[in-house]
Amino acid sequence: MRPEILFTLFKPVTALKGVGPRLGKLIEKLAGGKLIDLCWHLPTGLIDRRFRPHVADAPDGVVVTLAVTVDEHHPSPNRRLPYKVICSDDSGSVSLVFFNAREDYLHTILPLGAARVVSGRVGHYGQEIQMAHPDHIVEPDKADELPLVEATYPLTTGLTAKPLHRAVQGAIDLAPELAEWQDAAWLAKQHWLPWRDALHGAHAPDSMAALEEDDPNRRRLAYDELLANQLALAMIRAAARKRSGRAITGDGRLREELTASLPYQLTSGQRQVLHDIQGDMALPQRMLRLLQGDVGSGKTVVALLAMLAAVETGAQAAFMVPTEILARQHLQTLTGLCTALSLRIQILTGRTKGRPRQALLEDLASGQIDILIGTHALFTEDVIFNDLALTVIDEQHRFGVHQRLNLGDKGAAADILVMTATPIPRTLSLTVYGDMDISLLHGKPAGRKSVDTRSMPLSRLDDVVAGVGRAINNGARAFWVCPLVEENEQLDLAAAEERHGTLSRIFGPEQVGLVHGRMKAKEKDAAMEAFVEGRTKVLVATTVIEVGVDVPEATIMAVEHAERFGLAQLHQLRGRVGRGSEQGHCLLLYAEPLGETAHARIAIMRETDDGFKIAEEDLRLRGTGELLGTRQSGFPEFRLADAMAHQDLMEVARDDARLILDRDPHLETERGQALRALLYLFERDAAVKLLRSG
Ligand code: ADP
Ligand code: MG
Repeated sequence: MRPEILFTLFKPVTALKGVGPRLGKLIEKLAGGKLIDLCWHLPTGLIDRRFRPHVADAPDGVVVTLAVTVDEHHPSPNRRLPYKVICSDDSGSVSLVFFNAREDYLHTILPLGAARVVSGRVGHYGQEIQMAHPDHIVEPDKADELPLVEATYPLTTGLTAKPLHRAVQGAIDLAPELAEWQDAAWLAKQHWLPWRDALHGAHAPDSMAALEEDDPNRRRLAYDELLANQLALAMIRAAARKRSGRAITGDGRLREELTASLPYQLTSGQRQVLHDIQGDMALPQRMLRLLQGDVGSGKTVVALLAMLAAVETGAQAAFMVPTEILARQHLQTLTGLCTALSLRIQILTGRTKGRPRQALLEDLASGQIDILIGTHALFTEDVIFNDLALTVIDEQHRFGVHQRLNLGDKGAAADILVMTATPIPRTLSLTVYGDMDISLLHGKPAGRKSVDTRSMPLSRLDDVVAGVGRAINNGARAFWVCPLVEENEQLDLAAAEERHGTLSRIFGPEQVGLVHGRMKAKEKDAAMEAFVEGRTKVLVATTVIEVGVDVPEATIMAVEHAERFGLAQLHQLRGRVGRGSEQGHCLLLYAEPLGETAHARIAIMRETDDGFKIAEEDLRLRGTGELLGTRQSGFPEFRLADAMAHQDLMEVARDDARLILDRDPHLETERGQALRALLYLFERDAAVKLLRSG
């Protein structure tokens, strides 16, 4: 349970005075629904009110603080004109301007003849100096209560600066003092303040420099977050390890049979990673290994061999993939590879329903199924394995950490192999996997030529269409990926449908297929199948084909509006072609004029097909969020830490976490208790629970 001292911070924002349901909704949309979310909503700008000129010297457009006397009230002559209050000092006069003002209220705060200190932005209109709706109006003896430097926050439509500012202040004022969880020596070395002070400091920048990621207060908070993350990952890993106690060493029979029947030799890279994986499986500890291999590097057969090792012992294996299409494809691929072996491979997806599903579940529970391929549907509670020994998770960046653990629970001590085709730079993989063991699958199957990549403006669309036409007449098959319109599936669809229409007219309707995310699963499968079997020659698609689909005969990948895609995405798309022995071609069509980043991105695509290099470049060009592909990615989101700016801290946090758990595995010492609070503070509750169960 969350420590009581933190209760307040996890209350809804509406618990704050002055935050009602309407404001609460807006804040929730912007920052999150809890007080702690407001604490993490750091300022991005500041208003400096320290400039206190004479009225006559107040420059146009600048925020100033003026000491004035109230001379006259000019009520608005009609609803469209403002109410003006004329004030002055020795140097000149300034009109305080109010629209829709209540006269009695203005008389209360600005009584005639009174001295006032007002602060706001001034504007010059001809001879008149104005200040519209001053931010602050106070009596002179309260002038020192004015916030001289005020933080400004990112806003959202409908939410204005003042109420948000007040809410943030309210939230951080409620933040309790907490026992220090950081190492004292490390804190001293970094010159960092205690947590609460750092939090207040980060919300009270006194200069632009204090808004930067390298500000000590921000670094302290970022480090807290990184440490919580690393600690949670290390704990999850330790718990996963401890629960095991099963060594998987099959007799090698199935693996030998499969290897003998493969139409190719395993590459040395594949043999190497298999060696790692089988070594792990043979140990009594639970395996938690990440296999990173570029698109087309041949991870599937590696996964299959690992699963066969489990099946040889009479146990079962699960193979989880992110999409229905991919599940079906893997079923086909694996069934195809295993024809010579007597194996029972089945598929379970969201579409498996009713009687067939019931029958399948029974077979699974009684051990009649050796390998179960599936989507998220594998997580469902009533999916019970007889004896699950290995879980393979493919293209896992689509899944969340919780889901991974959840599936692990299905087998008492199931080994876990996570495979990803998106190469993740080291710094990022640390934050996501912590100290998970990592195997890199280097190299590609022999005979694989690198894909010939060209870029050209969309104005040359006709040439491209003609070129694709010639190629398909010679028996080629082409993917045609349509523009990605951010956050608007409807438009994505329209673009794809339109392109499908034009290409159908040119190539003939029977030659051109269409697949997109909104289609019914059956239609999707039918379209994919027609393309896989070569009945259609061109497959127009939105990015549903991005992940893992394997059509060796496809040699052309045309991407429209390539400038709208991320590098990692383009790399994935390009990886769909050139999988067979034929030369692959990738055509990146872009709209002119190309922005600088888009230009750089397309240039990188032409220069290299090294996924790791591309990922590093992507990180450099666009920052982490976009690299990871969108909101649905399974990476934990960092509120405070920045993968680029706080890279140095990431490594320290990992070492720190390891050290902490070595010395105090159950977080029982004084610092251990403080660290528990840290984990709750950053909502790594799941990790704390493991302490108890383990
Ligand atoms: P990915 O790592 O992207 O999942 P796949 O496992 O789909 O890659 O493999 C890509 C293609 O390479 C498949 O068509 C597969 O049959 C082929 N392949 C895999 N291993 C080898 C190998 N050792 N030699 C030749 N072709 C291979
Ligand atoms: Mg794959």
